[in-house]
Amino acid sequence: MAEPLYIRIKAEDNVAIAVHAIAAGTEIMDGVVTREDIPQGHKIALEAIPEGGAIIRYGVTLGYALRDIEKGGWINEHMLRLPTPPDVDHMQYGIHIRKDLPTPPVTTWEGYRNAEGYAGTRNFLGIITTVQCVEGVLNVAVDRIRRELLPKYPHVDDVVPINHAYGCGVAINAPEAKVPIRALTNICKHPNFGGELMIVGLGCEKLQPNMITDQVDPEHVLMLQDHKGFEASVQAIMDMAETKLRRLNERRRETLPLSDLIIGMQCGGSDAFSGVTANPSAGYASDMLVNGGATVLFSEVTEVRDGVHLLAERCVSKEVCDKLATEMKWYDHYLEQGEVDRSANPTPGNKKGGLSNIIEKAMGSIAKSGTAPIVEVLSPAERPSRKGLIFAATPASDIVCGPSQLASGITLQVFMTGRGTPYNLAAAPVVKVCSRTDMKEQWPDLIDISAGPIATGHATIEEIGTELFNFIIDVASGRKQTFAEHHRIYNYLCFFNPAPIT
Ligand code: CA
Repeated sequence: MAEPLYIRIKAEDNVAIAVHAIAAGTEIMDGVVTREDIPQGHKIALEAIPEGGAIIRYGVTLGYALRDIEKGGWINEHMLRLPTPPDVDHMQYGIHIRKDLPTPPVTTWEGYRNAEGYAGTRNFLGIITTVQCVEGVLNVAVDRIRRELLPKYPHVDDVVPINHAYGCGVAINAPEAKVPIRALTNICKHPNFGGELMIVGLGCEKLQPNMITDQVDPEHVLMLQDHKGFEASVQAIMDMAETKLRRLNERRRETLPLSDLIIGMQCGGSDAFSGVTANPSAGYASDMLVNGGATVLFSEVTEVRDGVHLLAERCVSKEVCDKLATEMKWYDHYLEQGEVDRSANPTPGNKKGGLSNIIEKAMGSIAKSGTAPIVEVLSPAERPSRKGLIFAATPASDIVCGPSQLASGITLQVFMTGRGTPYNLAAAPVVKVCSRTDMKEQWPDLIDISAGPIATGHATIEEIGTELFNFIIDVASGRKQTFAEHHRIYNYLCFFNPAPIT
């Protein structure tokens, strides 16, 4: 079977994307001959598009042509004018509530049950910090805990310091300070930390421990300024850690229903294939998880903004739809204050990968949410109160979305990429799914699953989606590790702080 040269998504699309780079003068379909060389993933006009004419992919208008485009011509990011975003005030909700979601191949997994809330995918000692000042001392202590204590507690997977830039030198009473404070409050209760609270602070910082927990006592909270010098501080951290490790070491995995599992979806370094291979496969896996009772979060406000009316149609109630609109408006305003809009989102890599603008990126990004009904919308770093598919409003920045979803309680993240990123979270494994076969060949030991075969007709979305579902269950159950987890690649936690720094 000859491999396809192009991918056209909907019959009404007047553009297709090139599966591989195509030379000028190639007849890609009856009567369509490329006018110039087309880079991989870039768009080819399937008909003549006059200046001002709509450029249509995914059945939606990506933009309007800034000049006449010939049939067979290359369409890049310099050739489109962005339409205005959809109005969020009068969105229709509840008109696309799908009931016949795909059946998951299994309905249980092996996790660490918690006294309340979701179960853990890993058994970690999490150490929360209230201020950046303590990081250096804490990191020395964490190294020693790993070397000297962890070998004695073989049922504990690792020690995870929650280091971050928040906590002091910030306008702690500003209205939006509630976002980072909520993130740190909720991460104290992360399911992978097994209910063992351990906070290390300095003493004089603005973010006092009682602002993130009501368990302020010497069993859970340690302030460096209360200890005599460096050695005593490190020893105090190790002593507290050991009492926690002893209890965590008693935990064992149990067979649990999927309703005890909560995961997140994110994409980054996207290209034009993300929306036709990796993200729809993730959406298919998400539909199976949700059908089995699991909770799946998807996020990234600027990447859903142009398709928000499509999400509203999947919201189960007016209340959910209204919260979706509120979160979109909040973000529109947040961007306006910086004198930008959602068009500031796409990166040079996105554009090189064929994504001309934020609408094209958004239509691909939304695909990772699958087709399930949306049962709840969360503000940044809120914890869910319902099970099922949830939109968790966060920035799209990989490094900010990750910690925000972590604060909402995800115990595993699925990350789709076109251009490639080694990003990972220490507190929850991150499964990497790439959009192109070339990407997997470039990074064979960083990409867990390749959705590339879908582009060349060698696999279906259902097949890769099922492979991904099974891998998620294996990683969640501790039977497999992700590549990033195996290599111990961890990124700094950047919690979203929309409030001023002083
Ligand atoms: Ca992202």
